[in-house]
Amino acid sequence: MTAVPTTKARPVKLPAALTVKELGDALNVSGIEIIKRLMTHGVMAAINQTIDFDTAAIVSVDMGFDPSELELEPVVPIVVEDALPSDDPTTLVARPPVVTILGHVDHGKTSLLDTIRTTRVAAGEAGGITQHVGAYQVIRDGRTITFIDTPGHAAFTAMRARGAQATDIAILVVAADDGVMPQTAEAISHAQNAGVPIIVAINKSDLPGANPDRVKQQLTEHNVIVEDFGGDVLSIQVSATKATGIDELLEAINLVAEVGEFKANPNRMANAVVIEAEMEASRGPVATLLVQGGTLRQGDAIVVGEISGKVKAMFNSLGERLREAGPSTPVVIMGLETVPEAGERVRVVADERLARQIVDERRRRREAREQTDHAHVNLDTLFNEISAGKLKELIIILKADVRGSAEAIRGALERLSSDEVKVKIIHSATGAVNDSDVMLAEAANGIILAFNSKIDPSAKKRAEASGVDVRTYSIIYQLLEDIEKALQGMYEPVYNRVVDGHAEIRQVFKSSRLGSIAGSYVTDGIIRRGLNIRITRKGQELGTGRCEGLKRFQDDVRDVATGYECGIVIGGFDKFLEGDVIEFFHQERAN
Ligand code: GDP
Repeated sequence: MTAVPTTKARPVKLPAALTVKELGDALNVSGIEIIKRLMTHGVMAAINQTIDFDTAAIVSVDMGFDPSELELEPVVPIVVEDALPSDDPTTLVARPPVVTILGHVDHGKTSLLDTIRTTRVAAGEAGGITQHVGAYQVIRDGRTITFIDTPGHAAFTAMRARGAQATDIAILVVAADDGVMPQTAEAISHAQNAGVPIIVAINKSDLPGANPDRVKQQLTEHNVIVEDFGGDVLSIQVSATKATGIDELLEAINLVAEVGEFKANPNRMANAVVIEAEMEASRGPVATLLVQGGTLRQGDAIVVGEISGKVKAMFNSLGERLREAGPSTPVVIMGLETVPEAGERVRVVADERLARQIVDERRRRREAREQTDHAHVNLDTLFNEISAGKLKELIIILKADVRGSAEAIRGALERLSSDEVKVKIIHSATGAVNDSDVMLAEAANGIILAFNSKIDPSAKKRAEASGVDVRTYSIIYQLLEDIEKALQGMYEPVYNRVVDGHAEIRQVFKSSRLGSIAGSYVTDGIIRRGLNIRITRKGQELGTGRCEGLKRFQDDVRDVATGYECGIVIGGFDKFLEGDVIEFFHQERAN
């Protein structure tokens, strides 16, 4: 035992979360003592690391404090959510537009971003070596434009799916020799769904096969009508490799920005969005942020999702040190606890302690929410949400094998709209359901209907992780019937029983810990822990249960394939005998 403190007269007030150093200060002992004490409890903490009240209390008692002397500071109600202050219109001033480049693969998005950057970014004093930091700014006719340097709608929509709209204007790159392709159509849907104006950049116009008119014609089929065709979408012919048309493109951006009147209030604590972030060996977590409102300053305490931190140092895309950054400025900052994700929103708060309280509270609320919530729209619960007035629109992303069926289904679905709920198809295309579709559904809180089309494995995973409802159909009327029923609240899920495999019991063991174990031989299929079980004797069902454990020799295993022996622990049934057959199965949604 070391240094038992003697200040026992006053109660010690501790906040819900504090750093090791703050605890040391509160107890009047050195931080090192606290660290040593934490280590005896198996907690490795650095001096600036945060610990919670309970841990702090244990350590304090360890160090000779009486538990009755420790008080949890009353928690001041804190704003934990991301609601932004609504700025008084008189405080708003013009800010640079934020531009993202979208389009089909290989149509030249990266080349265009590179050309704009290398030809237009003013060389910095440090020699003008621009590093890739996820965003940069250029000046045209005295006006600044911010470019997000991650092309494609994946990043764009990932941000929206997290509730952050970073982009004001979308540049839709279409290769003049290739025309409108599937990802061009996707990009249009993503931009339109986000309500972001489009400027068309017809790229590769240097190529002999370039056919800009064909591109414009094709775009009309996707409701993008360029000026020459009587619409109001600006289209510019460019060549990223020959660096032609770049001035015209920048002018077009300024024009659209003028119409859009993008504004923000620079005179308040900043809010921003994470463009990209990574862990650097020498600098720790480094994040590129785009300031959206207010002014971000060196020394500001910040909260990013469930991460707190402090702006220790701030740089622009040229690597120059900044002390402050106003709206639409991309900055690279150091000083976060860990690496945040792209699209997460950043808020400046009064001080670091409040920042930590906010992240603790957010974590607590998320955990509570995860117990109860399934926030995403789902056909099964649709009617309840409509009745509760929570849902006014059913947003659908439709994928079909051929264009004809996509159009037929689209028309029929739209006719299902009623006064209570509108059916809105925000994207319809041919081909498999891909990541982009799932992200769009996430961002727009929609469902995906796949008619005679497959689901890409990665899209399937993503949908499962994010709770996006993807339904597959091969008969049009069934699809329509399901949606109609869901809208009317009559949707009843139907399950099919799918058999995974069989095992034959060869010997029954008794274990004091696990009860009866069926020593078995897998005769067909693959059996898995967690599957449902049906036990039969001479074809007669004896009972049902669940596979609670699988053992190969002494090892617990997840699954066992045909031709292998194993021990099976069955939950819910133990009257099995040698010679009985165990069927393994699971339920799969049929509709
Ligand atoms: P991204 O997938 O949309 O980012 O496309 P990239 O920028 O990687 O470009 C794909 C290919 O098209 C590369 O080989 C580029 O060199 C080429 N490319 C891009 N822009 C132009 C252009 O304006 N003219 C020509 N001829 N080729 C281009």
